[in-house]
Amino acid sequence: MKNRLSHRLQNISYSQTIAMSAKAREFINKGYDVINLSLGEPDFPPPNFVLYAAKKAIDEGHHHYTPVSGYFELKKVICQKFYRDNRLKYTPSQIVISTGAKQAIINVLLSLLNKDDEVIIPAPYWVSYLQMVKFCESCPVIIPTGMKNNFKIHPEQLEKAITSKTKLFIFSTPCNPTGSVYSYDELKSLAEVFKKHPEIMIISDEIYEHICYSKKHTSIAIFPDIYHQVITINGLSKAFSMTGWRIGYIGAPEWIVQSCDKIQGQMTSCANSIAQIAAISALSAHPNKIEYMIKKFERRRNLVLDLIKEIDGFQCNQPNGAFYIFPKVSSFLGKKLYGKIIQNSDEFSEFLLEKAQVATVSGSAFGDNECLRISYASSENKIVEAFTRIKKVLN
Ligand code: PMP
Ligand code: GLU
Repeated sequence: MKNRLSHRLQNISYSQTIAMSAKAREFINKGYDVINLSLGEPDFPPPNFVLYAAKKAIDEGHHHYTPVSGYFELKKVICQKFYRDNRLKYTPSQIVISTGAKQAIINVLLSLLNKDDEVIIPAPYWVSYLQMVKFCESCPVIIPTGMKNNFKIHPEQLEKAITSKTKLFIFSTPCNPTGSVYSYDELKSLAEVFKKHPEIMIISDEIYEHICYSKKHTSIAIFPDIYHQVITINGLSKAFSMTGWRIGYIGAPEWIVQSCDKIQGQMTSCANSIAQIAAISALSAHPNKIEYMIKKFERRRNLVLDLIKEIDGFQCNQPNGAFYIFPKVSSFLGKKLYGKIIQNSDEFSEFLLEKAQVATVSGSAFGDNECLRISYASSENKIVEAFTRIKKVLN
């Protein structure tokens, strides 16, 4: 049966983040007390004013298809948000609202990519970029980074990776999984490279923009010379803790918007109508309305950094955004733990699930076999308990 599936499908694997979370759930259903630090999903409810707007939308009868690319009112609010938070000028004709940032990204990839086109992806990358590019039968070109550069690429590396086949560059800042945040100057130096290659498009995934601690988030589209090359991705899943509501959006050149609209019109018709009305309320609000969540994430970040220091063998830098730490675990690899040699980060992550009942995600999901992703979008109590367990099994 399997070989009857499309080549496109056979090319890709299941999402490792989602698979790990499903595995944790399986353990829980079997009666194990698992602490799930695998999925990148805030544990807060969405803000009350957003919930209220959604309930009102139901009462007011927003039950039908919306325009394919989203309600005009929401597009206007998104344009205001882009200007207020990012100093980016977009008009409603440059916006598409989709079923999560995930759909927003695949819409753009399907719009642009042909077989064998090259897509440059700095590693560690968010798990789905690689798989989506493969799904489009294009070629991922990975730029490796390392902890000593805070997992960020240099302009020279970018320049070297570009070939006549390069169509696209895709990255996230703040980054999932490393928590690294590119500064204004770092983005400027990358923008100078892209300026020399106006045929290359850039997907800038900024879904963690508000979850940013010491530095301020900068959008790469701010540099006028490359503004027309950039597709800015954002959504409500992370900042508003609305993962299940499935609202993502893009700000982009009109020709990209029209193409995403065409795809969406055939594939999904539109994003959920009630969630779009709720999004109007969420995005109209000043970001200080969600600061209480960001403060909590920052406290948790500091907590996990303190806790991990107490366990020998992990090597960790300080992430400045998102809600993950991405420690190096190579000192555990090749060692015998509980009678079994741990060969790679997949086995290390499985070991932690089986012996400590703590779910994490192997760095291999993100293109770095020496690391492990631990999400701290969980309560402080759970975080403390998870690290106590990890320490116990590793000692
Ligand atoms: N980009 C990144 C970097 C993410 O971490 C996520 C979270 N799953 C997404 C995109 C997709 O988000 P959404 O829930 O809006 O589809
Ligand atoms: N983005 C989240 C994560 O990285 C949610 C899972 C997913 O969409 O892959 O864990």
